[in-house]
Amino acid sequence: MRILLVEDEKFLSEAVSHLLRKEDWQVDAAFDGAEGLRLAKTGVYDAIVLDVMLPKLPGLDVLASLRKAKIATPVIILSALSEVGDKVVGLNIGADDYLAKPFKTAELIARIKSMIRRDALSKNMLQKNYHLEFGGLRLDIDSHELSFGEQIVPLSGKEFGIIECLIGTAGSVVKKTTLIGKVWGLTKWTADNNLEVYISTLRRKLKQLTNGSVVIFTTRGVGYKLGVAS
Ligand code: CA
Repeated sequence: MRILLVEDEKFLSEAVSHLLRKEDWQVDAAFDGAEGLRLAKTGVYDAIVLDVMLPKLPGLDVLASLRKAKIATPVIILSALSEVGDKVVGLNIGADDYLAKPFKTAELIARIKSMIRRDALSKNMLQKNYHLEFGGLRLDIDSHELSFGEQIVPLSGKEFGIIECLIGTAGSVVKKTTLIGKVWGLTKWTADNNLEVYISTLRRKLKQLTNGSVVIFTTRGVGYKLGVAS
């Protein structure tokens, strides 16, 4: 899971990032609304935590622009308790949840989890016991194990991130840039991300696991998609 945290209070941002990372999530932090919107518009995030009072561009404007751009990433808004109006406006313009400051971090984590879960359920991606499925493949979100029938292979963090993305969008092509953004992150972009190397390792694992029935197809110059071999 990759989370975008848009919060200008550095101390709070660091504390929240730390806790989110402890959940094994990847976190990108933006410290103003403009940067937050730029990152959010890439569509690579599974959830966005968005403060209302932000420099450069207010949080509610970030949210409105995001929804206008048809980016449906679930968003939880953070706002001071006194700004009750923000809650109503925020929910009206497409926020998925709202949390008043000051908040307990445990509550924020719980809210993010349920928001991501609702989002996945609405896309029919998520099965009851928290795994993703495609063509007989089963990806366990907690243990990072990929299985097919009785066979199981463990995945590295990066392999998990890539296959999670491919299963989540099964049937459609995932752009290379989207995969790199999701797995390596956008704020610490690296040219030598070795995506091709990970794809070839995953292909080998899939072949071993499914006997060639589920494969990663290449769309030249664009990206990859998961498919069932005919
Ligand atoms: Ca703020």
